[in-house]
Amino acid sequence: MNGRLAIYPGSFDPITNGHLSIVRRGLKIFDKLVVAILINPQKRPLFTLGERICMIKEALSREGDHVEVDSFDGLLVDYAVRKGSNVILRGLRALSDFENEFQMALMNRKLNRNVQSIFLMTEYKWFYTSSTIIKEAASLGGDVSSLVPSVVNHKLKEKFRQIKNT
Ligand code: ADP
Repeated sequence: MNGRLAIYPGSFDPITNGHLSIVRRGLKIFDKLVVAILINPQKRPLFTLGERICMIKEALSREGDHVEVDSFDGLLVDYAVRKGSNVILRGLRALSDFENEFQMALMNRKLNRNVQSIFLMTEYKWFYTSSTIIKEAASLGGDVSSLVPSVVNHKLKEKFRQIKNT
């Protein structure tokens, strides 16, 4: 598919409605997005890479060819170039996101001036939604069904049931 392509990187452990909103709004600007899962050996994710890929694919199945799900390690700017993109898309929630994102965007710019970082502000309803807080609530039996796609809600229950039984 030709046209404007952006990379949307993150951990997506797991994907939430906040992430989905950024993807859907991103597709109003770009023809195609690559949802790119960063393989970070320093983080211990709850879901395996394969599980995260499956959940994202299912949650975004309606977007068809407009969304590709992929994973990468190493430098994000190098990955973007390999994919033929010069845009990194990120979402912004609270002020706490800003500092981190600002630092990362400046570093990425230093590493490759041709790659631009662009940010979409979260929708207010997803302001407090993060994968971390969702995992915490779900681990304690909380109902997070309004914050995640149904496939994720189901997988969270399954995962914490498994953990409890081991
Ligand atoms: P990372 O570990 O790189 O922060 P995440 O999966 O937590 O990865 O997030 C990926 C991107 O999505 C980041 O830009 C993050 O700010 C954004 N994001 C996460 N949750 C939301 C949300 N509720 N609303 C808008 N953007 C979000």
